[in-house]
Amino acid sequence: MTRLDYSTQCIEEDDIAGVVEVLKSPFLTQGKKVEEFEKALCDYTGVKYAIALNSATSALFAAYLACAIKKDDEIITSPISFVATSNMFVALGAKPVWCDVKQDGNIDENEIEKLITSKTKAIAVVDFAGKPVEMATINAIAKKHNLLVIDDASHALGSSINSKKVGSFADMTIFSFHAIKPITTSEGGAVLTDNDEYAKQIRLIRSHGMVKKELWNSDMVSLGHNFRMTEVAASLGFTQMKKLDTFIKKRNIIAAYYDERFKNEALFLTQNIPHANISSRHLYPILLSLELHANKEDIFKELLACGIGVQVHYKPIYQNSFYQEKFGEFSLPMAENFYRSEISIPCHQQMSLTDATFVADTLVQIVQKYAHKVSTCQEN
Ligand SMILES: *Cc1c(COP(=O)(O)O)cnc(C)c1O
Repeated sequence: MTRLDYSTQCIEEDDIAGVVEVLKSPFLTQGKKVEEFEKALCDYTGVKYAIALNSATSALFAAYLACAIKKDDEIITSPISFVATSNMFVALGAKPVWCDVKQDGNIDENEIEKLITSKTKAIAVVDFAGKPVEMATINAIAKKHNLLVIDDASHALGSSINSKKVGSFADMTIFSFHAIKPITTSEGGAVLTDNDEYAKQIRLIRSHGMVKKELWNSDMVSLGHNFRMTEVAASLGFTQMKKLDTFIKKRNIIAAYYDERFKNEALFLTQNIPHANISSRHLYPILLSLELHANKEDIFKELLACGIGVQVHYKPIYQNSFYQEKFGEFSLPMAENFYRSEISIPCHQQMSLTDATFVADTLVQIVQKYAHKVSTCQEN
């Protein structure tokens, strides 16, 4: 049976031709392709600077470093994310202050303010599944308390709020171009910012902290890394950018089908996107109803057995043993409920409506079977 992944890349002839051209050129790294890709990101989002790096993890690290996040700073962040969002400021000695999430998986903007202390330096948010967080409220809180906003928009390239693209709302925004993110460079990431100084710092961090002077002479002005994106990767990014809107349209067709199909579904909820916003629909999360939580593992296994590549996003970051050992046990009711109920079902640009119908039919059949089992048990 054909296997449908929860998300997958879409590589076409123009992507391949671009990569082959780079491979035949004199520059495999540090040529013009990275600049072309960065310009495409700026043009698309309307942001002044885009700095492409070798991963979103490097991009997060460079962003936190560029705004001088340091030991004992507190960062308010969401536990419903990939570990890198918090790992990279923990790597700088900062401490995560976990904020609970809403039913859509995004940080609960109404819970942020009570977590602010004299040590709070930034709010690091995640646009879960591609749905933009409540940026107006979050920016207002940040402004009032003089905090930075870092947007881990690894899921959300192409998402927008009132026609304004994600990338332009926070002090710095991070995108991921990992294989199955909204577009891919195989591995890759970028920081977008309107801030001259952050852009300058991130460029230095990306390449050994070195500036070219003349002829052979260069000067290392700060401690840097090698977080550079290759020309091969940037070429992929450049050709993929041309197709981003088509990818998003296709994922939104699949998502709209699911939305309509599941709108009266009693056994699970879906993520609601406000009309004024666009989601990249990087993921299509469903939340199983309470009565099905105990059967999540069975439901997950049965979907896999039917060739439906499901995944769970995410285990709350603080439940990882590293975080438990370093910062102690922690618990947030909504985040934990979210983890117990969430399953991401296939939604990507390579899927047809026939595929989506198969997923929906199979999913409904499986959850009904378990819901029925539960009610039978209760009757006995
Ligand atoms: C994928 C992802 C990352 C890490 O991206 P890489 O490019 O693989 O380093 C970080 N944060 C979130 C929310 C992600 O989904």
